[in-house]
Amino acid sequence: MTPVTHCAGRTLALFGLGGSGLATADALRAGGARVIAWDDAEAARARAAAAGQEVADLRGIDWGGVASLVLTPGVPLTHPEPHWSAKLARAAGVEIVGDVELFCRERAKIAPDAPLVAITGTNGKSTTTALTAHLFRSAGRDVQMGGNIGTAVLALEPPAPGRIHVLEVSSYQIDLAPSLAPTVGMLLNLSLDHIDRHGTFENYAAVKERLIARSDWSLTGVDDPASAAVFERAVEREMRLHARGHGPAGRHYPVSVRQDLPTGVSLSAGHMVLMRPYEGSERILGGTDGIATLRGLHNAQNACFAAACADLLGLRGADAHVIQSGLNSFGGLPHRMEEVGRIGDVVFINDSKATNADSAEKALLCFPRVHWILGGVPKAGGIEALAPLFDRVARAYLIGEAADAFASTLRGRVLSRRCGTLERAVAAAAEDARQASGNQTVLFSPACASFDQFRNFEARGDAFRALVQKSKI
Ligand code: ADP
Repeated sequence: MTPVTHCAGRTLALFGLGGSGLATADALRAGGARVIAWDDAEAARARAAAAGQEVADLRGIDWGGVASLVLTPGVPLTHPEPHWSAKLARAAGVEIVGDVELFCRERAKIAPDAPLVAITGTNGKSTTTALTAHLFRSAGRDVQMGGNIGTAVLALEPPAPGRIHVLEVSSYQIDLAPSLAPTVGMLLNLSLDHIDRHGTFENYAAVKERLIARSDWSLTGVDDPASAAVFERAVEREMRLHARGHGPAGRHYPVSVRQDLPTGVSLSAGHMVLMRPYEGSERILGGTDGIATLRGLHNAQNACFAAACADLLGLRGADAHVIQSGLNSFGGLPHRMEEVGRIGDVVFINDSKATNADSAEKALLCFPRVHWILGGVPKAGGIEALAPLFDRVARAYLIGEAADAFASTLRGRVLSRRCGTLERAVAAAAEDARQASGNQTVLFSPACASFDQFRNFEARGDAFRALVQKSKI
């Protein structure tokens, strides 16, 4: 835990008693603050009270004595409209912050030079965060990983000299962390998502841009127009300040897997190459070819970010192979193109995290021919956008609510079978793949939400894995 000592002696209001809310309350109390906590859900309040938290309705407290409102990133700060607790805090002139902000202030107090890596973007955050942490850890560094992935930030060990914190941060967390200024900030990509919470795409992009603007070093994907514009603006701002004698130049690096770049990080014949601005020399960081947990161009992009971050923070030292061996030993994340078994010549891939067509596209691009299991609760637009990849599909096995709609999209283009349940789909796909000759892939990349048949995408992926294990016997 990171006790929040800079709030000692103060009273804070906290709204949102999920996992990160509870961890935040604990860290504040451990640092000597009083925390008055609340949640709209009765069960969350009861759990917190049982855990010894002071639970009281924030509508009935004296806001005059409150130093800050700590808001869980799950509740709206601005869109579609501010949560009632945010309105109360604003009316009382009380600042609103999130757990990442408390962490940053604590770092500034106890170990301001401790390396901090913050990763954001629309897609690939978790993979890049896990891979970055893995590269450092496998080289023997002291690493703490968390934030939006796994452990809540204040449940991590405190910042310390030489200890690297690698944090995944959502746009909501950035919004609530005005002093987040990481050693390395990454913006992987930007596409339409979460617009409900930020009002417009411009707002959403602007929140992510703040992270890049405040980083000591930044890495920004330039393969989509919105992130490329963020990068251009960051460089322009830096040049303006530098010309006036404020701050260094050459801190912002572009990253691309689609084009050669004069500086920054790009792919050359499968190798990730880093060219530092204002330096003439290239550094080869490594490659992802043949690494099963980093299949696909999207993972090459994630690896470019992780490897460049490792290089910027001096991981390589004397050992030119340390990054490559870290990439080679990356175990991958569950439910994202996860190889869950082989039966004879058939390999089974669990990509349950693919809850929309965009993600399923990334998976289909990795294999020349697949037996594709898909379905669930369809998203707007369904799978029509994947039509250019239909020739990779030997047969589609449809499950859940989307079956009718997907069957009509596929009619006349791809052989499909309505299986209803995942169990029947796995059995049918495994049997067809077994009968086909040569290496075969059964890909579970649903392109749908899971809620019609499963609690969440994790439960759905676990069910797939269990069914594959069962068919082995
Ligand atoms: P996030 O944490 O941002 O949701 P994940 O690492 O969990 O991202 O990956 C989720 C899905 O997003 C993957 O299954 C894959 O389909 C897709 N994806 C991963 N990395 C990228 C990337 N760099 N660009 C585009 N899509 C990606």
